[in-house]
Amino acid sequence: MLDIAKIRADFPILERQVHKKNLAYLDNGATTLKPNQVVETIDKHYKEECSNIHRGIHWLSERATESYEGTREKVKNLINAESTDNIVFNSGTTAGINLVVQSYGRSQLNAGDEVIISAMEHHSNIVPWQMLRDEKGIVIKVVPVLEDGSLDMAAFYALISEKTKFISIMYVSNVLGTVNPMQEICDKANELNIPVLVDAAQAIAHMPVDVQKLNCTFMVFSAHKMYGPTGVGVLYGKAEYLEKMPPVNGGGDMILSVSFDKTVYNVAPYKFEAGTPNIAGVIGLGAAVDYLLTFDWQQVEDREAELIAYAHEKLEQIPGLKIIGTAKIKSGAVSFTMKDIHPHDIGTIVDRSGVAIRTGHHCAQPLMEFYGIVATARASFAIYNTKEEVDQLVKALEKVQEIFA
Ligand code: PLP
Repeated sequence: MLDIAKIRADFPILERQVHKKNLAYLDNGATTLKPNQVVETIDKHYKEECSNIHRGIHWLSERATESYEGTREKVKNLINAESTDNIVFNSGTTAGINLVVQSYGRSQLNAGDEVIISAMEHHSNIVPWQMLRDEKGIVIKVVPVLEDGSLDMAAFYALISEKTKFISIMYVSNVLGTVNPMQEICDKANELNIPVLVDAAQAIAHMPVDVQKLNCTFMVFSAHKMYGPTGVGVLYGKAEYLEKMPPVNGGGDMILSVSFDKTVYNVAPYKFEAGTPNIAGVIGLGAAVDYLLTFDWQQVEDREAELIAYAHEKLEQIPGLKIIGTAKIKSGAVSFTMKDIHPHDIGTIVDRSGVAIRTGHHCAQPLMEFYGIVATARASFAIYNTKEEVDQLVKALEKVQEIFA
């Protein structure tokens, strides 16, 4: 059993009062809170080993480089990558997808080539592909979503053809919490030799993720959604792909030699990390990985499943409340609407009760369109959340009802 009181003690922000009420932080899909272990690691870097990396031979620089490169090893282990060379650091999931689109997509895809995404994707897995479509004439095919918020897998299979040259799909929906059948998707992609990108932004802190077992070509995620700092992310790529992909940003650190006649690029992952990176952030990510791995995955999954089931049970009892996306396999998030009450009003009123939830289209406007709504209210969970916080949300929602009665 997870010791929730002990876990909560790692997150002092949970002690805060908001509008004179205990904070119930249920906006983890947007960003998780950061434990002392992460904050202190970043603090320690700045206080004790602040330096630029790779280029210096002085003691501080060596320490900072060790910590930075040490995170690559930690991330490699977290996702079971083949080697640290498969791990590219960047600013987040969005940057990872854009890098793949701008590098692999631009160099390898041609007019008429089809890229399959899904109707539940985050804008960060839609817009970069549209930019490539406008530039190169690729065709975007969209796997529809079923009413319960699961992917229409029959449609997925029907969309695949010899024109399919890339598949890019999210592991877990940030809106619905649906866990997509990623292994099945990757298996099909591999059978046909189609590269596949897994957006694991909402999966990485909630379940064990194994890139070799999935056999995905690329995976992207953000540190800030896994108890780490903002502005840092990871792109995993298979070696044979990273090797043939051109860099997107030029500058320091991504080269082996530069002259006005000829510049020789560094190897992967360095050729994708031009300029001084977010050193403290990457080191903080390392601490977040350490933190995450102090827990047993089965216990994390069981605990979150229990919270989700409890939230469903309690929310369903509120008259007029509709849960959007009721697929059986869910993780992390529950979205809902309340008759004609605008989700922003819901969010504002529950905030007065100390409850932090997210409202809006959650960067998934096509999904909102599918459900014929403009926005939802979303409660999303992390390892420190409790049933009492769900009760606090439910009470606050009852107030919403009173106000709009
Ligand atoms: N993909 C998914 C599924 C997300 O939930 C998010 C953020 O909410 C993103 C991508 C974008 O992540 P970031 O803003 O950290 O780049």
